[in-house]
Amino acid sequence: MTESAAPLVESPSPLGTARAQLAKAVDVLGYDGGLHEMLATPRREITVSIPLRRDDGTIELFTGYRVQHNISRGPGKGGLRYAASVDPDEVRALAMLMTWKCAVVELPYGGAKGGVTIDPRRYSKAELERVTRRYTSEIMPMIGPERDIMAPDIGTDEQTMAWVMDTFSVNRGYTIPAVATGKPLAVGGSLGRLTATSRGVVHTARAALASAGVALSEVRVAVQGFGKVGSHATRFFAEAGATVVAVSDQYGGVQASDGLDVPALLAHVAATGSVVGFAGGDPIDNTTLLALDVDVLVPAAVEGVLDAETAGSVKAAWVVEAANGPTTARADAILADRGIVVVPDILANAGGVVVSYFEWVQANQAYWWTEREIEERLEHRMLEAYAAVAEAARTHGLTLRDAAMMIGVRRVAEAHQIRGLYP
Ligand code: NAD
Repeated sequence: MTESAAPLVESPSPLGTARAQLAKAVDVLGYDGGLHEMLATPRREITVSIPLRRDDGTIELFTGYRVQHNISRGPGKGGLRYAASVDPDEVRALAMLMTWKCAVVELPYGGAKGGVTIDPRRYSKAELERVTRRYTSEIMPMIGPERDIMAPDIGTDEQTMAWVMDTFSVNRGYTIPAVATGKPLAVGGSLGRLTATSRGVVHTARAALASAGVALSEVRVAVQGFGKVGSHATRFFAEAGATVVAVSDQYGGVQASDGLDVPALLAHVAATGSVVGFAGGDPIDNTTLLALDVDVLVPAAVEGVLDAETAGSVKAAWVVEAANGPTTARADAILADRGIVVVPDILANAGGVVVSYFEWVQANQAYWWTEREIEERLEHRMLEAYAAVAEAARTHGLTLRDAAMMIGVRRVAEAHQIRGLYP
């Protein structure tokens, strides 16, 4: 063991979890302390003040961040999060995950992330537009198609990306669609981007089950988080024949042991904005959902929900991480000890950034692919990445997370070492 070995104590913060995962990979790869420190530290960060003129004329001040964790393999790539809980360490952790994720699915990108500490549900659309435009203006020197490319995350969507793209373009004097991905189709978005993360989750879940001889049509699934990723994943699991027995969002959840009627549930959410109150199931809270007697558990909400306390009661045989960082380092060890297979975030939810990459390539070429081309290329890339990670796990006797981290970290370190240290 080198001095970089993973700490045995629980590191419940997202950054603590991300650093513990990196330390383990560095240990497996045998890197020295200097390289470890370089890989653990963001390359560039910016913190900006965002004054908002509210609809009633009063002024409110927010703080925004953009972190480029690593750009050795290409421009920074990562989402923009709007949530009251956003803080610099969370953004750093998410930027670090993006670095490894882009490397695992072999995209020519580094890792970045942005965030604004704001609860978007408390502000009008016009107010959110002003926040987005001011944030984009403030971080202008850091972003661009060759520098750092934005995408949606929690609390942001296609419309947010259209405002980012427009603000950047207006300031440059011409239209630059490749500065953001996850845009609406009308302004250079890609077919298949909206559902790409969820499709990737289901592709990797199918692959993980197949290695145990199990089909999606045989499994019971619970999904925590019913936003952009969780809702489409629920639909794709159901369309593949799986029985979705529970879903939840931040307001609560619903369960039905015979399976939820997913089209009816989606209609209920479209009408009410929450899964709560769906007549086709019984109420369930978020913690109980994690401990349900299912085959596949899909955390698709926020970081750290599987921790030292909740991991011991997970009954699922597979955890497929649609969310970023849902499992703390301690929980990861508990799940591994209990023989539960975790398909890690940097692999399971990489479908979003894969199709973001396709969107960026299309924008740079000004030539658009068909939906079929995109879906086929997405599936191919996800299955290739899954196979490489599973093979490394088998060869080296690692969990899927440790194998994925080993591959991602090694690719980034190689790029760094081949480029050399300047000056
Ligand atoms: P979203 O804002 O569309 O949805 C988030 C969902 O989580 C909502 O249903 C919300 O109610 C629920 N939620 C929030 N806090 C919760 C809590 N404490 N307990 C239970 N549910 C809670 O966001 P999204 O884009 O679907 O992102 C979800 C996760 O997936 C995040 O971890 C994000 O980083 C990750 N992710 C998203 C993408 C993408 O393409 N959007 C890609 C990769 C990873």
